[in-house]
Amino acid sequence: MMYRVYVCKTETLSKGRRWSYRKSMAQDPVCKMHVDENSAHLKSEYNGKNYYFCSAECKRAFDSNPRKFT
Ligand SMILES: [Zn+2]
Repeated sequence: MMYRVYVCKTETLSKGRRWSYRKSMAQDPVCKMHVDENSAHLKSEYNGKNYYFCSAECKRAFDSNPRKFT
């Protein structure tokens, strides 16, 4: 019984992870690193488009001169 519950949980987790990976990877325009839109809390909007960043330094660089990176 306990074993079955465990398997069920694992399956749900891996499925969910794969789905979110495929669905929402964005690219940090400053360092070109891939960031997950769901967990990225560093975000800027420019020309009606959302940009996501891996770190506060990248966001600051973008915000100070967005045209350089778009
Ligand atoms: Zn970055």
